[in-house]
Amino acid sequence: MNPEIDLKRHCPICQGSRGVLLRTFHFSLSEGHPLDRDQRVVSCKRCGFGFSDTEVSQEQYNRYYQILSKYSDDTTSTGGGNQDWDAERLKETATQIFEWERNPEVKILDVGCANGGLLLALKNLGYHNLYGVDPSDACVKQAIKNSGVKVEQGSLNNALKKEFYNGIILSHVIEHVKELRESMRLLYESLQSDGWIYIEVPEASRYGDYLSAPFQDFNVEHINHFSLESLANLIGATGFQEKKRGSKTIFAAKGIAYPACWMIAVKHEKGGEIKEDSDLKDQLIRYCDLSEKILLKIKIQIQEILKKNNRIIVWGTGQLTMKLLEETSLTSENIKAFVDKNPINQGKRIYGISVLSPDQIRDFPEPILIGSLINHDSILNDIQAMNLSNLVYKMI
Ligand SMILES: [Zn+2]
Repeated sequence: MNPEIDLKRHCPICQGSRGVLLRTFHFSLSEGHPLDRDQRVVSCKRCGFGFSDTEVSQEQYNRYYQILSKYSDDTTSTGGGNQDWDAERLKETATQIFEWERNPEVKILDVGCANGGLLLALKNLGYHNLYGVDPSDACVKQAIKNSGVKVEQGSLNNALKKEFYNGIILSHVIEHVKELRESMRLLYESLQSDGWIYIEVPEASRYGDYLSAPFQDFNVEHINHFSLESLANLIGATGFQEKKRGSKTIFAAKGIAYPACWMIAVKHEKGGEIKEDSDLKDQLIRYCDLSEKILLKIKIQIQEILKKNNRIIVWGTGQLTMKLLEETSLTSENIKAFVDKNPINQGKRIYGISVLSPDQIRDFPEPILIGSLINHDSILNDIQAMNLSNLVYKMI
């Protein structure tokens, strides 16, 4: 039975103050990391919305996305359209927007545009008043290079202009936003009177159907977990009226299918009423149960690995690795080094252990544990391309 608790962060949709505790996490974050290493994921008692009960401020999140954005690395992240499966996704999103808005003259802002892949796809459809904004300087540079569109550094709070845009896109953005209602209010004010928004988010009510790594979506970045109903609640509560909605399947990495949902809404005078979405709570509980079973298998497997090896190398410092040190018998004494291909993670320290580049471990004899299920194949390719002779362990 999941206990009821008082919330530190009131429900970002209905402002309810009581929640059902889904799971508590401790994340192994690198030293100096600005986010909260302890997190409770809850379901709102009143409206059923899923979210992290975190006390980290919006400013801290803004700072994190400014300095530690993993999205600027083209080889490991999505949003730039540099991999064919990611380009295909962005083309589909642009087409959905085109089906709604056929006027190429309209002013469209892509908030959290990452490396500008969606802006490029929109430009290719004929839109020529495009704007982008992203908190990361590295992403801004990449986005300008990739799309040729006007992109500025900033977050939702400081990049908006009063009644300026005809359309605003938030694709895989608001699951990261702490102050949801405040952000929606800013968007509302930045739109012209007949303006629209396109919102796309991971569809949390289907997490359990696309489970590739345990608790993958409960992490330091994804702090809001939507269903279409909870998205409709947010839209209605912040002065928008829903016009179109749908579910889709995208890819989180090559071959890793991932559930998403989207909604198009317009500015509207009257607010909608908030309806309880108890199905989302049930689906999140199911996702937890399924994740727990996979995690148990990984725990047993790591015990076996540690019986044979005193020390191992852990390749990958992503969401799963952040949980392994807390959830399994793996300790800092067992880890010779972490390895990460993304330069933004290299040189950091996790529990005193350095994060090295692949080249730096060439002469290390210890076995390698691939610390990601989502990016397992690409990490394995990198290991093979380097002709490393280390024993390699795959989880489960
Ligand atoms: Zn609520």
